[in-house]
Amino acid sequence: MARGGGACVANGEYILSAAIARINALGHAAFIELLGSLYEHSPRVAEAAFPMRPFAGDAALRDAMRAVVDAAGEKTQLALIRAHPELAGEKLRARALTASSMAEQGSVGLDQLAAAELTEWSALNAAYRERFGFPFVICVRLHSWDQIVTAMKRRLAGDMAGEDAEAIRQTHDIARLRLEDLLARLERLAAHEAQVARDLSMLADPASSWVRPRTGHAGEQVYDVAIVGGGQSGLGACFALRREGVHNVIVPDENPEGLEGPWVTYARMVTLRTPKHLTGVETGIPSLTYRAWFEAQFGGEAWEKLEKIPRADWMAYLRWLRGVLALPVRNDAKVAAIEPAGSGLFRLALADGGVVLARKVVLATGIQGGGEWHVPALVREALPVDRYAHSSSVFDYTPWAGKRIGILGSGASAFDNAQHALGPGVAEAHVFARRADLQRVNPIRHMERSGLTKRYALLDDAEKYRALDHFLGLTSRRQRIHSGGRRHILASDFIWERRGMRCGRRGMMLSSRRRPASTVLIFWSYQPAR
Ligand SMILES: Cc1cc2nc3c(=O)[nH]c(=O)nc-3n(C[C@H](O)[C@H](O)[C@H](O)COP(=O)(O)OP(=O)(O)OC[C@H]3O[C@@H](n4cnc5c(N)ncnc54)[C@H](O)[C@@H]3O)c2cc1C
Repeated sequence: MARGGGACVANGEYILSAAIARINALGHAAFIELLGSLYEHSPRVAEAAFPMRPFAGDAALRDAMRAVVDAAGEKTQLALIRAHPELAGEKLRARALTASSMAEQGSVGLDQLAAAELTEWSALNAAYRERFGFPFVICVRLHSWDQIVTAMKRRLAGDMAGEDAEAIRQTHDIARLRLEDLLARLERLAAHEAQVARDLSMLADPASSWVRPRTGHAGEQVYDVAIVGGGQSGLGACFALRREGVHNVIVPDENPEGLEGPWVTYARMVTLRTPKHLTGVETGIPSLTYRAWFEAQFGGEAWEKLEKIPRADWMAYLRWLRGVLALPVRNDAKVAAIEPAGSGLFRLALADGGVVLARKVVLATGIQGGGEWHVPALVREALPVDRYAHSSSVFDYTPWAGKRIGILGSGASAFDNAQHALGPGVAEAHVFARRADLQRVNPIRHMERSGLTKRYALLDDAEKYRALDHFLGLTSRRQRIHSGGRRHILASDFIWERRGMRCGRRGMMLSSRRRPASTVLIFWSYQPAR
């Protein structure tokens, strides 16, 4: 058997490498996420290559993406070149580059230049940008520092015409090496999956089924369990049931495949807030942990260096878990209503008109299942809809480049949004807090401990409410009011108004400040179900 370019030839037939086969099988969102950063900040290249699947091998994939770039107009190519950061520039010092760029520039020591080198290099960078109108692009992994400096001086003194073509050639080299790394990672992951399969067989998974099948009154299919929501809880519950021999399960999730939960849609933090060691969804099988998934691809040393889990990696891990366990999630399936259907069954009405019958229903609907997103009336009724957005919506900050924005609420997501907004060039992001002081301690850290994660379910309802009331009380103590003898968490306009906030057609104003505070408002506000 001969191997070459991601395809093996066995008995005259081509067999795709595990990596290419996996890429060919990806859905749209997962494909863009995996390959979208091969060309720096230019997911549109992967987007345009997506319809060209299936790829016959590594070379076919690489060439497809390359062809997209080569066929793009001058303007698009220029945007691609400009999407590259300056070498050894400010963003490197601020550690504000993409993970790939950080690693590439670090690999030739650009983050450790001596002061004199840096001064000379900064002058060259500036002269180059002045002359050509875009940053100097070179595939640093193919050059030593001395070669980079020599190439910079040669190209700076060279011909104007043709420099953009040289920069594009360099972007191809950068993308090629990134793709090679990615394919090697996917091959290692495929090898790890053999270990997963072995571990599962050791545990006699799938456990033999013991549940007697049932049908509906008219002979319709009845699932033993319907788990509403295919986020991490839904996946974990589904796998846990399988380990108990309950296989006739369906997991409807309203989102398209690969976009379950908040992670890659409206969550905007750089990393997860939870410690990297947290386990649970893998139901105790070591090879299924995030750590095992991560180490299989990046190695143990990288794990030691990892501080917190990057947000998109967590989604990638959940997608992997679902795939490797072949969990029965049905996407684009919103459950609109659940009602008793007689004879101990439940009828789940889907928003698209479909119906699911089940013996048991598990609600794994996450934060959305507990209430509804809320935009206070003082904003909703005063501002045009293009002047505000709720932080749970998927939106792009690019149109707000150069503008000042105001963010109402001072929880973690407010700061996530503030830092995220500054990336695409928002000029100023102001966070407004209702409370007199910022929350400095994470009061729900206890929720990560075994005492709560494993045993919360054993509490009776009254104790559950008391526990949650305690945690929520810690996060929003100053927002509580007494009404009719009952305490409510206040998620209304009241405190904002008391703090002097007003909205007009030009934006938001705090009466204590002279200038209008913002041109767009972002909310993190939520009304718990009563
Ligand atoms: C911005 C943000 C940041 C967060 N950061 C962290 C963090 O760092 N660490 C951490 O541990 N937790 C974090 N959380 C909490 C996080 O939501 C949960 O830990 C995690 O997503 C819970 O998983 P889950 O499966 O219970 O819910 P989710 O991941 O929310 O999954 C529930 C799924 O059910 C779907 N669904 C809901 N209703 C229906 C319906 N009627 N029909 C069909 N599908 C439905 C939802 O669309 C979603 O896909 C964060 C939450 C947010 C919003």
